[in-house]
Amino acid sequence: MENKFCIYNTLSRTVETVIPNEDGKIAMYTCGPTVYHYAHIGNLRSYIMEDILEKALRYIGYDVKRVMNITDVGHLSSDADTGEDKMLAGAKREHKTVMDVARFYTDAFFSDCKKLNIKRPDVVEPATNCIPEFIHMISVLLEKGYAYQAGGNVYFDTSRLEDYFVFSSAVEKEQLQVGVRDDVDEDPNKRNKNDFVLWFTKSKFEDQALKWESPWGTGYPGWHIECSCISMKHLGGRMDIHCGGVDNIFPHHTNEIAQSEAYLGHKWCNYWFHVHHLNDKSGKMSKSKGDFLTVSLLEEKGYDPLVYRLFCLQSHYRKPLEFSYEVLDNMTAAYEKLVKRIAELNGEGETDAEAFADYRNRFMEYLCSDLNTSMAVTVIYDLLKADINDKTKLALIADFDQVLSLNLTEAAARLKEAGSGVDAELESYIKDRIAERAAAKKEKDFARADAIRAELLDRGIAIKDTREGTVWEKIS
Ligand code: AMP
Ligand code: ZN
Repeated sequence: MENKFCIYNTLSRTVETVIPNEDGKIAMYTCGPTVYHYAHIGNLRSYIMEDILEKALRYIGYDVKRVMNITDVGHLSSDADTGEDKMLAGAKREHKTVMDVARFYTDAFFSDCKKLNIKRPDVVEPATNCIPEFIHMISVLLEKGYAYQAGGNVYFDTSRLEDYFVFSSAVEKEQLQVGVRDDVDEDPNKRNKNDFVLWFTKSKFEDQALKWESPWGTGYPGWHIECSCISMKHLGGRMDIHCGGVDNIFPHHTNEIAQSEAYLGHKWCNYWFHVHHLNDKSGKMSKSKGDFLTVSLLEEKGYDPLVYRLFCLQSHYRKPLEFSYEVLDNMTAAYEKLVKRIAELNGEGETDAEAFADYRNRFMEYLCSDLNTSMAVTVIYDLLKADINDKTKLALIADFDQVLSLNLTEAAARLKEAGSGVDAELESYIKDRIAERAAAKKEKDFARADAIRAELLDRGIAIKDTREGTVWEKIS
């Protein structure tokens, strides 16, 4: 590939050039939502930035296959088996079955994604579809001696790995090894502090709604196994990019790597992309806090979801982002102003191929520099000011919007329509008639030119010849 796409890799702690396993192709995996509640706009910040990553890779020419899981089973908020089962808590809260809750919030998630122009990944797989795959991987881990049975559960033995804390610095590793959290009752079945459950048959949640038969008894999978299995099912044993929010780094992604590489016997995923958190004044926005912002709430307050998307693009994905309505108000004004400027462009003339290539390269370079979305957006402002014709400007904006997905062209067309009082079909008819009239006048066919003027007048459109060309106005 000609374009070097560079991205920060949490595994190497450096910005690296992406070199895919297979030339020209990217195998990409995204940790999907836990569907016990609506996604909050913090979760959606991660999905917006992952969407931009996928679209940027496609834009520069990669053939991307992206897979996402839906976490619809079990899932304790802690590996120590002390946390709450999130799906069960959701079902109790809403007096529904776990599967009804899962279905409802999966649909709600994709409806939010649609409003934010987040593309649906090529493959979306709920965890409950893959129980045989989980059982297979756990069996192999037991056979290879990376897992053990204790107290009715199957655990991953982290002491079998040379480097379990793959994402951490030496200092952090030491702290993680000795650090004991006061709020967590250690599970006495564990051989090592960081061991984690692969399969539960005995947990504090005896009324677990969904259970499956397994060689180790009736039960349900642990917290992390689904992402390893679902990604391998669709992307094979070597993956290019794995995505998630920074809270996924430990323990979720650390455990995913532990079990996947123990199972495969080789390196699994080369690049780890993590999006920093959206915070509000009280700290990290989180579902378990109960009080959180959703896309519907923003809409109820009169905000366009795409303004939230622009807000996310204006900041770098590796920086925490603080949400406030004040900033969203400013962003609304910026979006409207931008759309207005685009609506003022008229698509006449020929596309200037050289200018098009030049601005496209600038845009691409920012995307390739660790996904610098805010600078990529500024290329639009630069080109609006540039001395290039409107046709080229419009073509570039439509081209960039394949990645930015801010509906800029559509919003400008709507604004024009509202302002001129005619729909796109009538506008195109008017333009055609004006062109035809100009041709008739050139051939000195004034009768035809007058007939066209009268025809337009019949449809409520008055035309006037000015030094800049023929202009029109809706008069009735
Ligand atoms: P969950 O539905 O809780 O499994 O989370 C879905 C995704 O949102 C994961 O990739 C999380 O890392 C990410 N996430 C959770 N909270 C935030 C936040 N406040 N800001 C950005 N991303 C988040
Ligand atoms: Zn995951």
